[in-house]
Amino acid sequence: MASQTTKHVFAFEEGDGKDKRLLGGKGANLCEMTQMGLNVPPGFVISTAACLEYLESPERALPAGLMDAVHAQMRAVEKKTGKGFGDPDKPLLVSVRSGSAMSMPGMMDTILNLGLNEETLQGEIRATGDARFGYDAYRRFIQLFGKVALGVPDAAFDHELEAVKEAAHAKQDVDLSAHDLKEVSERFLRVVEAHTGHPFPSDPYRQLEIAIKAVFNSWGGKRAVDYRRQFHITPEMANGTAVNVVTMVFGNRGDDSATGVAFTRNPGSGENKLYGEYLVNAQGEDVVAGIRTPKPISRLRVEMPEMAAQLDILREKLETHYREVQDFEFTIERGQLFCLQTRNGKMNAVAMVRTSVEMEREDLINKEEALLRIQPDLLEQMLFPRLDPTVKADSVAQGLPASPGAASGFAVFDADRAEQFGHELGQKVILVREETKPEDIHGFFAAEGILTSRGGKTSHAAVVARGMGKPCVAGAEGISVDVNRREARVGLTSFKEGDVITIDGTSGKVYLGAIPTVEPDFTPELDVLLGWSDEMARLKVMANADTPEDARRARKYGAVGIGLARTERMFNDVERLPVVIEMIVAETPEARQAALDKLLPLQRKDFRDLFEVMAPNPVTIRLLDPPIHEFLPDEHVLERELTDLRVLARSARGMTVLAGAMGLLHSPDNVRHDIDSLRRMVDPAVVEEAIAKKEAMLRKVRALYETNPMLGHRGVRLGITFPEIYQMQIRAILEAAAECTKAGIEVHPQIKVPQVCTAQELRLVKSFVDTIHDEVTETYGQPVNFKFGTMIEVVRACMRAESLAEEAEFFSFGTNDLTQATFSFSREDAENKFLPLYNQSGILQDNPFEVLDVKGVGKLMQLAVDWGRSVKPNLHVGICGEHGGHPASIAFCHQAGLDYVSCSGPRVPVARLAAAHAALKAAR
Ligand code: PEP
Ligand code: MG
Repeated sequence: MASQTTKHVFAFEEGDGKDKRLLGGKGANLCEMTQMGLNVPPGFVISTAACLEYLESPERALPAGLMDAVHAQMRAVEKKTGKGFGDPDKPLLVSVRSGSAMSMPGMMDTILNLGLNEETLQGEIRATGDARFGYDAYRRFIQLFGKVALGVPDAAFDHELEAVKEAAHAKQDVDLSAHDLKEVSERFLRVVEAHTGHPFPSDPYRQLEIAIKAVFNSWGGKRAVDYRRQFHITPEMANGTAVNVVTMVFGNRGDDSATGVAFTRNPGSGENKLYGEYLVNAQGEDVVAGIRTPKPISRLRVEMPEMAAQLDILREKLETHYREVQDFEFTIERGQLFCLQTRNGKMNAVAMVRTSVEMEREDLINKEEALLRIQPDLLEQMLFPRLDPTVKADSVAQGLPASPGAASGFAVFDADRAEQFGHELGQKVILVREETKPEDIHGFFAAEGILTSRGGKTSHAAVVARGMGKPCVAGAEGISVDVNRREARVGLTSFKEGDVITIDGTSGKVYLGAIPTVEPDFTPELDVLLGWSDEMARLKVMANADTPEDARRARKYGAVGIGLARTERMFNDVERLPVVIEMIVAETPEARQAALDKLLPLQRKDFRDLFEVMAPNPVTIRLLDPPIHEFLPDEHVLERELTDLRVLARSARGMTVLAGAMGLLHSPDNVRHDIDSLRRMVDPAVVEEAIAKKEAMLRKVRALYETNPMLGHRGVRLGITFPEIYQMQIRAILEAAAECTKAGIEVHPQIKVPQVCTAQELRLVKSFVDTIHDEVTETYGQPVNFKFGTMIEVVRACMRAESLAEEAEFFSFGTNDLTQATFSFSREDAENKFLPLYNQSGILQDNPFEVLDVKGVGKLMQLAVDWGRSVKPNLHVGICGEHGGHPASIAFCHQAGLDYVSCSGPRVPVARLAAAHAALKAAR
């Protein structure tokens, strides 16, 4: 049997520090740190393979021989520490911690002080001479073990603790005496027995076995499963959790002891300076849980200078070895520094970018590594809003700036309400808590930001919010949160559930009401990093932009041109719409031309503005795409309006009759004034004219009606049936370019045709372009350079790429429509109807409108690229569907040999980094 031959248990001295899949991230690092010579408490790792074997066994049995191996390892630890597991004289206590290949902070379980029972407790008290310490450790152990391994709810313990605190008039746990804590532990033992029906297990090895199973089970717990789903952690990335059994060291052994968490660099700003917090005379969980507000690490230099110096050395060793910012936990036990764990630090985007640039400059990493350590999507955080500095507002409270960015929303006081208001009702909410716990995770997902009244910058709330890139203000102690009344008091004022508040995670300030926000700027380091990206990338990044403002922003973000300007957005402008409608309802070519003549100068100006903003980069203008009835009013609205007008027409006619009758009834001179005002009130001729216009419009709407407009009279089909429209647009593009050239502005217009499925369509539109180009050349006295190309968004266009390439100088994949066409999924409806179920049930891995379907749509694209280039080797090829800003899709575009991607402006930095990743990964 595999389990008898497979080694599942590894001493820290023997485990392979590189094998995170087998040993979990924490276990692998504990092995690596031990082997580097760092001061790690002795211990061993039980592998993730053992976890899987356990979870797969029907009766949930540990692999055969596992506990024998654990016993052997415990004996080795006893030797190293000089203590004995269960030995009342020199008790050895251990922690039992989870740890999978991917870091999942707080998602699985940890048990501390394992090995304590009535006898070893007395030994511990004798050894330390500290009864208070002993009973404190014991009651913590009973509660944690009770909760994690035996399923006893926290509330049952908290209730007893509060009762003892009240009787002892103790405000905080530290105010409890040894005697009080003894009372607490006795009550806790009774709680366990009452809930489980059995006495608390006193045999240390029995405790250890139960704890190992509990940690293994926590891999399949709801919290962990939700977390993996949210962060797309697949079994390939992490499968099962390892168990780390580590000798306990104590930061709560007096004032020469402490515990802390630190980052080798600042995870909020990237500053190259040790960053962290510690608590004197405390256990690690006190820092992480935010129960006491810890001190900044800089204070350690004053309180324990020798320890601060050792911490500097530890920091240096960790960074030089891992060549990555480390997030580590340490404990000082009676003047001795231990490193308890380390992992790559989770940082916000600003910090990731700054540390990448600075570590490259320090020769710790090279440019390639500097780029690859940042997930492209993370950069979006740097585009997060901040409070508008021109708006003056008084904050009501100040907390710690725990995760940058600003957000407003309705205050909610627990995670379930956050989920209800945020996810289900689509409201913006701020989750307000005294402190947060791992079980609040769903509230984080639903909230815009998090505000806590207790805890530090490494508290759960701060760490999780930073990881998610959501603003967080932590430890705002001026706020007192009353969850039951769903309100918070701040000095003399208060806010309730549903009141709007604003938090600024960059300054730590809290405001009542909504404060406007502004877009952030690039940091200088981001410019440097994206500059390196551009050096490495082969794909160019252009933007989808329809207005000068969009274009300006895209350019600021580094777009090297516009890959798609959708001209229909220009038609929708409120002032133009009447002219556009006039063009559509025109009954004769002359009437249509008259409307188009009005649109020409407006479009010319639109294009000129775009050219000027983007000069000298290319600007790709797409000729009108949507069916023209989209610009007309709704049929039912028109029908209702006509009914009203017809009623009015009758009334108007009645009034005319009345006016005539009044002249007969009275002397006309006496009622002249009344008759005139009656006639003026509603002129029947005006009403009749309005009716005629609306009827014409309704006729047009009905004539243009299509059952399936997405597959109907749109794109190039429209340009062929109404050539005047495309001709007007082509003229506007070429004249705008000619005007720019005359003004000394270098322009590179590109004209592209939507919805093309046959070369004949392209040929016809190209003939318009050639004719108009000749005319414009003649008028402006100089030719205009331009490129002519086609969207590839129809399956037939892919299949006929060779013949399209004969007409087109470039291809631009419209993967929104191409996805729709390939799957026959309506892009308007699928995402609200069946796609979520398809994703949940695994029929489809992703939403194909978000993540390019490489296997199907991608295959069509690859065929089109290859066939197109077989005819025209220099054919320029890009993508302008939504996928153009999605990192994995960009990687595919690189592999498929595209020249550029085009995406919305704010995605441009993400796409630039993704393009570099694609090139670097392909080269490996
Ligand atoms: C596309 O179909 O991918 C595209 C870019 O065009 P639109 O989204 O305007 O249809
Ligand atoms: Mg399209």
